[in-house]
Amino acid sequence: MTSADGGPPASPLLAVVDELATRLQLSLRYAHLDEHPRFPWEEFRSLGAHGLLGLTLSPALGGHGVPLPEAGHVLRRLAYRGGTAFAKLALQPEFSSVLAEHGSPALRKEYFAPLMAGKVLVANQITEPGAGSDAGSIAMTAERRGAIYVLNGTKSQAAFALDAQAAIVYARTSPSDRPGGLTAFLVPQELSGVRRATIGDLGERWMRRGTVEYANVEVPEDHRLGEEGRAFDYLKGELTRERALLAAIYLGVGRASWEETVTFVGERTTFGKPLAQQQAVAFPLVEDGAHLDATWLYVQDVLQGLQQGDRRSGRASLAKWMATEVALRVIDHAIQFHGGRGYSREFPHEQRWRDVRSGAIAHGPSEIMHLVAARELWPRPSTTSGA
Ligand SMILES: Cc1cc2nc3c(=O)[nH]c(=O)nc-3n(C[C@H](O)[C@H](O)[C@H](O)COP(=O)(O)OP(=O)(O)OC[C@H]3O[C@@H](n4cnc5c(N)ncnc54)[C@H](O)[C@@H]3O)c2cc1C
Repeated sequence: MTSADGGPPASPLLAVVDELATRLQLSLRYAHLDEHPRFPWEEFRSLGAHGLLGLTLSPALGGHGVPLPEAGHVLRRLAYRGGTAFAKLALQPEFSSVLAEHGSPALRKEYFAPLMAGKVLVANQITEPGAGSDAGSIAMTAERRGAIYVLNGTKSQAAFALDAQAAIVYARTSPSDRPGGLTAFLVPQELSGVRRATIGDLGERWMRRGTVEYANVEVPEDHRLGEEGRAFDYLKGELTRERALLAAIYLGVGRASWEETVTFVGERTTFGKPLAQQQAVAFPLVEDGAHLDATWLYVQDVLQGLQQGDRRSGRASLAKWMATEVALRVIDHAIQFHGGRGYSREFPHEQRWRDVRSGAIAHGPSEIMHLVAARELWPRPSTTSGA
């Protein structure tokens, strides 16, 4: 990578990523996952065996305690070498931090420890048909009956709908809960009353997103994560950190397309000279390089702030928005300057574009990222959204 490398000195984990990416041929596997969507168990276990799962979680939780700026470097390199899939997989334990931080010791042993080894997959189910951006209006209920909770409702758009062994499910324990007052449960997906179906997606097809219906699903009380009504409080810090780390991933993918395009236009000749000598081609590419560098420096600064205890969510939200926009523009130029072949599967750009496109919606749509930042600039007394 020939980019601005703001932040900490290069991590020894970068060499681990490079070795793994070369040995497993991650870029080829990434393309294969798109054509034959499946959950990549072998690669997941390899990430675990190489200490690349749960990089940023504290050792007390079973994580590796890698500082956020360094983890940003590692995830960006993983995405640069192998697309979005394996870098996002590396974050799967972070996406389950509510389990790590608030699950009972028995639950953590059964699900979180094997998740860190890439042997068990834990999904997150927040979104519902009637509640996405406004997650505070979730309708799913968890009614307490003695030592169990009975779950009823439908979760939609959930990644790993078919593949996860368990999911962190967000529900309302009382109709009178404040709008954002949700409770989290760890729900084994083989429980009676759970029905799962997948949907066809534009990109990130390996996630096999889908709908999960819960009809009178009985969940033991000890599968509740933390206190009733506190789930959003638990989730907030996780969302902030993951948005900033996702930004690093999108920049890694964008960087790969940019470098490949710089090489390509230096070699491809039209009208008797290399494309790079056409200003209409060269100028967008030099601007793209600057935008990638500048956004990376911003992301590093955000990660540094979070590492030093900054609790604000706005800058991390904007980092995800900005990195997604920049990467999409860069990859779009890659498609354009590779011509008709750029629009085909011969090159990885079209898959990268479809996969990165999810970044403007998943983990909070870009508009909501702006709302989060705006609320920090102009605070208001109370909020009803889970964003
Ligand atoms: C690849 C991918 C993976 C996902 N994985 C998961 C998962 O594992 N678990 C899970 O629970 N969910 C998951 N989601 C769902 C995701 O979190 C939601 O799609 C997202 O929160 C938006 O909710 P929605 O789809 O209901 O859109 P809506 O809330 O209906 O919003 C539609 C659009 O309207 C705009 N919008 C909404 N509100 C506002 C506003 N206040 N101001 C301005 N514009 C607004 C935005 O452009 C938004 O995209 C995933 C989504 C994708 C694409």
